[in-house]
Amino acid sequence: MRLALAQGAEALDKGEIPVGCIFVKSGTEEVLARGANKTNELRSGCSHAEMVAINDYLESRGGNGSEEFSHCELFVTCEPCIMCAAALSMLGIQKVFFGCHNERFGGNGSILSIHQDSLLACQRPYAVTTGLLKDEAISLFQRFYSLENRRGKRKTNTTCAWKENKVSKGSKLTEIKFVTRSRGNTKAYKQRNKKISDMLHLTKKSPYFHAAPPEKRKKRKKDDEASKDD
Ligand SMILES: [Zn+2]
Repeated sequence: MRLALAQGAEALDKGEIPVGCIFVKSGTEEVLARGANKTNELRSGCSHAEMVAINDYLESRGGNGSEEFSHCELFVTCEPCIMCAAALSMLGIQKVFFGCHNERFGGNGSILSIHQDSLLACQRPYAVTTGLLKDEAISLFQRFYSLENRRGKRKTNTTCAWKENKVSKGSKLTEIKFVTRSRGNTKAYKQRNKKISDMLHLTKKSPYFHAAPPEKRKKRKKDDEASKDD
């Protein structure tokens, strides 16, 4: 898991959401593949650490070798999302170890339990162990969001910024939600929101999609006040 965290730290240095992983051949210490999240670099919401590692390995083998993953265990800093969990199931991964839970998109227990499903013929169940170096994994996210917040504050002409919204139970950080806030430029606000929603696979129906741009919210407020006066 330390190697997976190092991959996550590399992603952080490049301004990516810091998730890293390694695939290790079962019963050995041989690393088959490693990957870091590259959703920004590749401009692809699918380029999660697991998919990057799998694709890099397959590309290096000319598209062959997918069966190798059925002799592997995965160490990943954050719970695989539903997409990645399904891919792992199809590859026949033996076991997944992850750090922190992914409360929004987790496919290994948080939202769905893909690892326990065998609804499709191509799916193979696998074992999951959670909480491995969880605090270190969460710490990567905290560093990422505090950096993003600072960047947002420095750029006065920037219209949108990430806002960290920690959800805590007691004193423990359990998840991090994403919202954006506007600084007046509606066009940039919309573009940024679209980028984020694409990246996180959100739709307008999602409660986490900020559907109304600033001028609409102002208009609504005015209408509300006018109707109060009536
Ligand atoms: Zn994923």
